[in-house]
Amino acid sequence: MADDTPRTPPARWRPATVMARGGLTRSPWGETSEAMFLSSGFVYESAASHAARMAGDEPGYIYSRYANPTVRMFEERLALIEGAEDCRATASGMSAIHAMLAALCQPGDRVVACRALFSSCIWVLNNVMPKMSVEVSWVDGPDLDQWREALSRPARLVLIESPSNPLLDAVDIAAVADLTHKAGGELIVDNVFASPVLQRPIEHGADWVVYSATKHMDGQGRVLGGAILGRTKPILDHLQAYYRHTGPSMSAFNAWVLLKGLETLDLRVRRMSDNAAKVADALAATPGVSELRYPGRSDHPQHAVHARQMEGGGSLVAFRLEGGKAAAWSMIDRLRLIDISNNLGDAKSLITHPASTTHRTLTDAQRAAIGLDDSWVRLSVGLEDPLDLIEDLQSALGV
Ligand SMILES: *Cc1c(COP(=O)(O)O)cnc(C)c1O
Repeated sequence: MADDTPRTPPARWRPATVMARGGLTRSPWGETSEAMFLSSGFVYESAASHAARMAGDEPGYIYSRYANPTVRMFEERLALIEGAEDCRATASGMSAIHAMLAALCQPGDRVVACRALFSSCIWVLNNVMPKMSVEVSWVDGPDLDQWREALSRPARLVLIESPSNPLLDAVDIAAVADLTHKAGGELIVDNVFASPVLQRPIEHGADWVVYSATKHMDGQGRVLGGAILGRTKPILDHLQAYYRHTGPSMSAFNAWVLLKGLETLDLRVRRMSDNAAKVADALAATPGVSELRYPGRSDHPQHAVHARQMEGGGSLVAFRLEGGKAAAWSMIDRLRLIDISNNLGDAKSLITHPASTTHRTLTDAQRAAIGLDDSWVRLSVGLEDPLDLIEDLQSALGV
């Protein structure tokens, strides 16, 4: 099979069905579960067939840096879930974002990004793009006036995250997509925090969606992975050669683990989101918590935007403690069940203090611009019983 030929009829199946079996291709052995093709290369019937396949005149796999049958099943399943024409899987979320930016931009192009981004994305935009003579402009994600201003000049790409890391701001995907297209550009949404279960940005006008599959798609703390989703033609015209020749590809083993993750993604994300809603409500009423952000609560500053584009509140909660960093660290250290980790979207609830960890490399001014001070804590709610999580948090807060 050529690596760019979709195989599954997409229109027929509802999302939960697609997550369980979309993109499945069985070998002649008829295995129930997806097969793991741990093969770096592929062999050919003849010299002529080898030449034809490499020239793209004959379908079939060539080399796993280009495409691999297990990885292809993951790509096809995810494209069907997302409602995208096609997908390329990558070794990590950052390799997806880096490959997109590097493949699509030419010297002299301009990228506009929201300030609240995963911190490695900020690093790439500040340190890699200028080396390619690409200009980067920054915008406060929720402020549409700033988007109008920034996109009154041409831009090649716009990169947003909604809900954003770590304070769960909402960016209006449809409005920013419209402004991006008027500026002659394409909109990329980093949709990690919502996952495709709760938000499908292409339905709101995004051109590209990127994922760290490490988060909810694995969701069990095992492997790294990433994905780029978009339309077939721009993938073939702008991304394919870069992807094949620079080697950000996903391993077949990781693709297999992630296919198994996709089978239960709908179940897990919905349960984590329900658990997070319960934990958020309990924390908001707990003494010592001075402010709380949860996209599913009506007191979130951009609740209306989240509600329009995202189903449910998601699995992340950010909250702030009276007593600043000392109170935050002491609460974190007193937890007995929730683990301290910068990962998220896991079956196990994980907590982090962003200002001193994931966002430590930002300057004070950059942190201030996204409203992050050292009294904030970010909690990724997992699959435990929410009552146990609430008890753990409240006892750590001395309630
Ligand atoms: C984790 C994450 C990434 C990077 O993904 P890796 O798989 O860790 O490389 C990018 N964006 C967001 C929003 C993330 O949470």
